[in-house]
Amino acid sequence: MGTVPAGGGSPPVVGGAPARTVSRAGAGPARAGARETPVGAYRAPVDGVPRLLRAFDPPPQPWLAGHRGVDLGAGSGATVRAPAAGTVTFAGDVAGRGVVTVLHDDGLRSSLEPLSPAVAPGARVDAGGALGALTGDAHGGTPGGPALHWGVRDGDRYVDPWALLPGHGPVVLLPLR
Ligand SMILES: [Zn+2]
Repeated sequence: MGTVPAGGGSPPVVGGAPARTVSRAGAGPARAGARETPVGAYRAPVDGVPRLLRAFDPPPQPWLAGHRGVDLGAGSGATVRAPAAGTVTFAGDVAGRGVVTVLHDDGLRSSLEPLSPAVAPGARVDAGGALGALTGDAHGGTPGGPALHWGVRDGDRYVDPWALLPGHGPVVLLPLR
């Protein structure tokens, strides 16, 4: 990690050199102890090319309805995987559905549902590590589903998980140092 590509002068490629980082610029004040997210640190929490069934649609005010995450198509029983490395902070039932939360190394927190957890709080997971099996549809009948709901929080603020995936944006590439 951290090597500078030889030859220089080539345009930055999202998802390319691991030494580059993604900035969530413009997304509000920097959180305390914020760390940058290496490009390519995140992957979809389901295998294969991710199918976005419902996009992130945050409410204009925190108390209003909205969609605080993305819904990804997956087969029932599909393995749900950690979107990035981190530590499991919750694995259990919330209002009758299985939820796993992972605190990632960049400080973001992913929550995934509904699944039957195969991990316990405190467990360390790599990106792509199995968290459990999808148990149904996140919203009880998503067209094209079953759908896995993936929410990402930065402190108490929800961010768009889709923008964390390689090749999606907006992202800002920061200079190598
Ligand atoms: Zn959802």
